[in-house]
Amino acid sequence: MAIINSVLGPLDTANLGFTLPHEHLIDSSAGINATYDELLNRQWALETAVADLTQAHSEGVDTIVEVSPLDLGREVSLMKEVSEQSGVQFICCTGCWLDIPRSFWGRSPEFIAALWAREIEEGIEGTGIKAGIIKVATSDPITEHEELMLRAAARTHLRTGVPITTHTPPQSRVGERQVSILKEEGVEPHHIYVGHINVTPDKDYHRELARLGVWLGWDINNPFGRPHLPPWQQMIDYLKELLDEGLGRNLMLSHDWNVVITRIASPGFPSREENPDGYLWLTRAVLPRLKEAGVSQKTIDQLMVDNPRRYFEGERPLT
Ligand SMILES: [Zn+2]
Repeated sequence: MAIINSVLGPLDTANLGFTLPHEHLIDSSAGINATYDELLNRQWALETAVADLTQAHSEGVDTIVEVSPLDLGREVSLMKEVSEQSGVQFICCTGCWLDIPRSFWGRSPEFIAALWAREIEEGIEGTGIKAGIIKVATSDPITEHEELMLRAAARTHLRTGVPITTHTPPQSRVGERQVSILKEEGVEPHHIYVGHINVTPDKDYHRELARLGVWLGWDINNPFGRPHLPPWQQMIDYLKELLDEGLGRNLMLSHDWNVVITRIASPGFPSREENPDGYLWLTRAVLPRLKEAGVSQKTIDQLMVDNPRRYFEGERPLT
């Protein structure tokens, strides 16, 4: 076991339970929420999130890892309120997504790591709410500023022990390059969770990442597929093939869902009408279909409970 940071304070990893390791509450931009309530009605977001997550909790969702950093409009106080009222545990993040603030450009990795380590050790925006994971994102190829964020994430991890998760773009094997930069900085592979591998359905890529010993994030993104992806039922068949090869040792499943997205025309983000199941899509549709395809409850528990716990405990994937 290990004690990690949740938005309500220290959390024993033994109590993580059924965990969705890549979700959002609000998907926005730095400064937007406080400035333009035309784009985000905080009261509506709070009430909707509490209703959605109370329902999710009653259907077995114990923990959400909320991977919105500053530049995705992170709202840690809202996460705390939602956690208190819904009963779902939240782990929030430090780090940076693709909208890297210019104030970070040209800084040293150490300078940025000190800022991020403070969010893990002391708290975020004076709330005392501490980050439990480091988020970082890159394009393909990785830009100069994105590489700086990766190196800063590595140094934050080395200072604090908190693990790293990455965003990867579709149809790209950039996860391998991300891992190699993080390894250059001294991060061991089992502290890295490469996100969105499902948007690059390439078995050689997925096998290679598993061979490297990192965790693999299958963040279903959307039940209707992105334009370049086959229908979700076929994606489940593909996932089943990976599980049959033993990649379930490395895999974690999540949605990449949010209650509010202030961006428009973002592929892979269905409306609430298109996906009324939201944070319960895995529970209601995907896991039953995996079971129908012959995946055991033991494997489902490995994906949804054991692997997130092992990752947060700093354990390696089983071999
Ligand atoms: Zn996401």
